Amino acid sequence: MQIKELFKRKNLVFSFEVFPPKVTSPIGSIYDTLEGLQDLKPDYISVTYGAGGNGNDNRTGEIAAIIKNKYGIEALAHLTCIGSTLEQTKGVLQELRDKGVHNVLALRGDIPEGFEGKGELKNSQDLIRLIREDQGNRFGIAAACYPEGHVEGKNVDQDIEILKLKEEAGADHAITQLFFDNNYFYEFLNKVEEKGIQLPIQAGIMPVTNKKQIERIVALSGANLPVKFKKIMEKYEHNKEALRDAGIAYALDQIVDLISTGARGIHLYTMNNPYIARSVTESIHSILKSVNKEKEVV
Ligand code: FAD
Repeated sequence: MQIKELFKRKNLVFSFEVFPPKVTSPIGSIYDTLEGLQDLKPDYISVTYGAGGNGNDNRTGEIAAIIKNKYGIEALAHLTCIGSTLEQTKGVLQELRDKGVHNVLALRGDIPEGFEGKGELKNSQDLIRLIREDQGNRFGIAAACYPEGHVEGKNVDQDIEILKLKEEAGADHAITQLFFDNNYFYEFLNKVEEKGIQLPIQAGIMPVTNKKQIERIVALSGANLPVKFKKIMEKYEHNKEALRDAGIAYALDQIVDLISTGARGIHLYTMNNPYIARSVTESIHSILKSVNKEKEVV
């Protein structure tokens, strides 16, 4: 099923993100993660993709196919285009199709350090257009968006213009970069609406569980850290369990606020940690049920 159908059926789409094991680890290690996630019944699970055309041993497609075919959960395969040729990208799409994966998150990817090649596909709109040209409507297409602005972009307004172009190129829905202050998301949604963008947007939420992880992520994404969040990091940075529990509590607070304010979806960055996904999902079980009660057809 294409994910756009889920948005028609549900008031709130709730999904997880996982990443493939390193190429040096056996692919089977992903089973521990998936076994821990499958009974939480997310609407779909997305699988990240290596940037710069270096691929990840085709593991994204392989894992997406396991999610779909072994666990019966809808899968979204991330796909980056920077550094890949048209033929390579078309090949990946065909492989996904052959494996029964029907949803792609179309991304440019981060430009690798020292990258000099131009690549045939320069941005995510090029990739979205290629998917539509090459595969028609066989894939549901998701795109990334940035409530606090993309690190290379001028400002949020420009990013919203770009999101409009992604929609016009054929994207069906969007997922945000992680954020820790919901106000950025609400301001972003207001502007998106003013621009006439129709596609549903899922809020990307990452429960933070260790300080190093967050410093790396903030450097990459440019996300702002609210004072309340910084206090948690400082207070518990030397107590692993306390930091994990405080990180989960903070994410839950964000999620409850987002759902109450009418967000169309939550995409949980699980960091392949079923404990975190379980703690969050079980805590909002009755909220998810209640919010979807009236609309759900299945
Ligand atoms: P684009 O939409 O192409 O935008 C890139 C930059 O170019 C932006 O600054 C944009 O403003 C500018 N731009 C785009 N089009 C135009 C235009 N027509 N005119 C002028 N400027 C333009 N990375 C991975 O490597 N693997 C993953 O699996 C992965 N998953 C992600 C999942 C989510 C939900 C998100 C939010 C990000 C993910 N990323 C992933 C990171 C992503 O690859 C980077 O943020 C990357 O730098 C931008 O990708 P994009 O698809 O948003 O790029």
